Amino acid sequence: MHDLSDGLADDLADGVARFQQEVFPAKARLFAELAEAHRPATLFIGCSDARVVPELITQSEPGELFVIRTAGNLVPAYAPGPDGVTASIEYAVAVLGVTAIVVCGHSACGAMTALAEGTDLSAASSVARWLRHADASVARTAGAGPERVAALVRENVRAQLANLATHPAVARATAEGRLALRGWVYDIPTGGVAEVSGPSAAVAV
Ligand code: ZN
Repeated sequence: MHDLSDGLADDLADGVARFQQEVFPAKARLFAELAEAHRPATLFIGCSDARVVPELITQSEPGELFVIRTAGNLVPAYAPGPDGVTASIEYAVAVLGVTAIVVCGHSACGAMTALAEGTDLSAASSVARWLRHADASVARTAGAGPERVAALVRENVRAQLANLATHPAVARATAEGRLALRGWVYDIPTGGVAEVSGPSAAVAV
C-alpha cells in the first residue's frame, strides 16, 4: 500500500490523519450507524466553488445531505439518456426518498460572472457548453445593469428549480406532496443565506 501522502498535497494527508485521530473517534457511534444506513433528508445542489461548503453552511452531520455540486449549480432539464446529474437526482428522490431539494447559488460565482460579463471561454469549450444551461437566465437579466451578476445568480437559481421540476422523479414526488423545492443564495462575505422565491422576490432568512 502506498503512503497516503504520495501524490497528495501534504495538507490533505495531514487532514486525513487529523480526521482519523480526532474527528472520527469523537463521532464513532454516528459512523457505526451510517455504516448500515443511508437516509439523507435533503438533496443539496450547489456550485463546485470551493468556498461554498454545504455541510458547513447548514451545519449538517455526515449522512444528512445528499449533495450534487456542479459548475454554476446548474441542473440540466430532463433528457432521456445517461447523465450523472439526472441519475443522482433520481436516486436521491426515488430511491432515498429525500423530502427537500435545495438549489444554492452564491455571491461572486465564477460561472455566473463569466456569463454576465461575456467572458471569452473559447479555451474552455466544455465549460462554455455546460453554461448554456443558463441561457434563459442570461436572457432574463440582460438589462440588469451593474447588479447583473447578483441578479443572474438569483435568476439562475429560479431557472434551475424550474429545470428540476422537469425530472420525472421530482415531478412525481412534488405532485404527491412529499417533496419541497427551495432556492437559496449564499453570500460569501457575510455568511448570509437569502431564500429565492417566486419570480422576483428574494427574502432574507
Ligand atoms: Zn459558483
